[in-house]
Amino acid sequence: MRLDVVTIFGEYLQPLQLSLIGRARQQGLLDVRVHDLREHTHDRHRTVDSPPYGGGAGLLMRPEPWGEALDAVLADPPPGAGADGPVLLVPSPVGEVFTQAAAVELAAEPWLVFACGRYEGIDARVVEHYASRVRVREVSLGDYVLNGGEVAVLVVVEAVARLLPGVVGNAASLEQESHAAEHDGLLEHPAYTKPASWRGLEVPAVLASGHHAQVERWRRDESLRRTARRRPDLLRTLPPAACDAADLAVLATEGFVPGDAGGFRPGPAPVAD
Ligand code: SAM
Repeated sequence: MRLDVVTIFGEYLQPLQLSLIGRARQQGLLDVRVHDLREHTHDRHRTVDSPPYGGGAGLLMRPEPWGEALDAVLADPPPGAGADGPVLLVPSPVGEVFTQAAAVELAAEPWLVFACGRYEGIDARVVEHYASRVRVREVSLGDYVLNGGEVAVLVVVEAVARLLPGVVGNAASLEQESHAAEHDGLLEHPAYTKPASWRGLEVPAVLASGHHAQVERWRRDESLRRTARRRPDLLRTLPPAACDAADLAVLATEGFVPGDAGGFRPGPAPVAD
């Protein structure tokens, strides 16, 4: 997978040399290229910002350096990029909230390009223009405001790259994690390792029982319970068809019942006529 990141703070992307991502780069699984937006300015001060039209606080990134920088990136596709070109990811608090499902979609792409905003963001015409040329996704890490898009790029790259074959040693572990579709999008159950007893806290006995089916049942129950208590919003998209009788019993105890439009909703089971 090729990743191009355009930024005024290339140093911010240095963590992409470390750990699993760094190793994936060394192995040739990831080709990460960081581009300095200021290389596409033409004044002595290498200016990339200007006050917003209409007034207001702060400065906005001007469209011309972005146009030049992104055109240069798009003019150099990786082999096998295909006619669709890259997905252009623009981190922004007004974007779609980035999820594991989005990470899975992006992991299937051969080429991602990132445009890191700073100041009060990027002139809106940049997204408008590139949306007519490539697939653009404005992505938000969540409902808060960061100083720049670089941190969002680190997050997205880490979430996407670990899904690529060969990046994470044990691929099966990806399927059992929180938010994985294979795990019905639920939160992961609590997990324990040695020692069996620590500071008066014991590992649940079932986990050391060696009884595989009981371990799996315990994990599923805990997953459902945790999700119901911490992220009940995730149950709205849990298909009742994916649940067996034991799942339904746990969810009912937590106060969730199958909804009319699929998923689960809070409340007691409707009384039958
Ligand atoms: N004026 C913008 C607004 O109110 O929507 C905020 C701009 S923010 C200070 C500067 C840059 O940080 C954005 O262009 C974006 O690249 C990045 N950023 C800030 N919050 C973000 C978030 N929640 N998710 C992703 N990127 C974010």
